Amino acid sequence: MDVVVVGGGIVGLSSAHYLAERGVDVVLCEKGSLGSASTARSAGGIRSQFSTAVNVRLSEASREVWDDFESVFGVDIEHRRCGYLFLARTEEAAAQFRENVAMQNDLGVDSEFLDPADAVEYCPGLKAETFVGATYHATDGFADPNLAVQGYAAAARDGGVDVRTNTAVADVLTDGAAVTGVELADGERLDADFVVNAAGAWAAPLAAMADVDLPIEPHRRQIAVVDPTIPVPESVPLTIDLETGSYFRPERDGAALVGGHFEEDGDPVDPDRYSESMDIEWAATAVERAADYTTYFDGDSRIKRGWAGLYAVTPDHHPIVEETIPGFVTAAGFSGHGFQHAPATGQLVAELCVDGEPSLTDISELTSDRFETGDDLVERNVA
Ligand SMILES: Cc1cc2nc3c(=O)[nH]c(=O)nc-3n(C[C@H](O)[C@H](O)[C@H](O)COP(=O)(O)OP(=O)(O)OC[C@H]3O[C@@H](n4cnc5c(N)ncnc54)[C@H](O)[C@@H]3O)c2cc1C
Repeated sequence: MDVVVVGGGIVGLSSAHYLAERGVDVVLCEKGSLGSASTARSAGGIRSQFSTAVNVRLSEASREVWDDFESVFGVDIEHRRCGYLFLARTEEAAAQFRENVAMQNDLGVDSEFLDPADAVEYCPGLKAETFVGATYHATDGFADPNLAVQGYAAAARDGGVDVRTNTAVADVLTDGAAVTGVELADGERLDADFVVNAAGAWAAPLAAMADVDLPIEPHRRQIAVVDPTIPVPESVPLTIDLETGSYFRPERDGAALVGGHFEEDGDPVDPDRYSESMDIEWAATAVERAADYTTYFDGDSRIKRGWAGLYAVTPDHHPIVEETIPGFVTAAGFSGHGFQHAPATGQLVAELCVDGEPSLTDISELTSDRFETGDDLVERNVA
């Protein structure tokens, strides 16, 4: 079996690796360099605290890989398990938190609902009086996406994947009934039994080449690296003030990554022409928001640097993972969760191509027809 994977981010590399492991001949085409798009701009968060079961299951299936990554792939991805702390300002959000924890516990996740006063034990700088409830999961955390890319890229090459960088796919070829391959920008044609769309923020234009309309839009998101006024200990969880969208997590030596999205959803951007730089006004707002609920930040905190990247967003913030038309497998639209869910996604892509159906976990809710039938999912734990 021949498969062309389009996209050399974490999702495409993971897919190529697991396909090769199943004995498939894989060519991976990446128009730039490996992992240089959204993957390089991620905060690297890995968590099981989602509000829909399908996201929790993707996390749990991926966690098995993240936990053993170094022994399997030979790369230390600097996986730091400092936990995630979600914070609720209203009783309504707190009630939702209790439901989330019950669902997560049913799926084997050891998360807990906390009184905000008890959350201070994990985040000593928290202004607990701002909140009415919290949830915490001790083994959530984050890892270095660039190191994970290196691990998957090396394994894919070792497994025989023909990894081609600076190789743009210019067209998807069909015979009228099924997708049959791709045409590269230099005119070369590659035949394939399956073409995998792992093009991230470019997934919709790639799908359009196969006459498929996918509701995936690129939205710009930013991160600032800040020297807080009081250093953030490395043991502090990734802390999210869910209703304002503000979050921060420790970096090294007391520094912190600060993020958040504070406008109504905003317009999509052109993935080839958007500003990759951080806006200083946004960063000042992000620090101000974080200062509202922790003592680490105030007007003296120093914004050192930052960057912007793209979320590939579907209408319900869940990915599309399916064989969309015969021979064309979609694995895109991960919003802010595609780094952490890449290990499960790659295995599911391999199952879709080789077995004809996914078996790692139930992803029947992730087909694109949900947007027509109105069976959209609602993920509330997003930042
Ligand atoms: C600020 C920010 C913070 C984030 N934080 C987190 C987090 O904490 N945890 C988390 O899990 N996720 C996070 N994410 C989301 C995460 O980065 C993405 O979901 C993930 O990287 C998607 O991986 P991908 O491989 O699908 O996309 P990408 O890494 O964007 O890869 C897609 C690749 O496809 C290539 N491509 C596109 N079209 C073509 C073509 N025609 N021919 C050849 N190649 C093509 C592109 O060049 C690109 O390299 C964050 C994202 C941002 C922007």
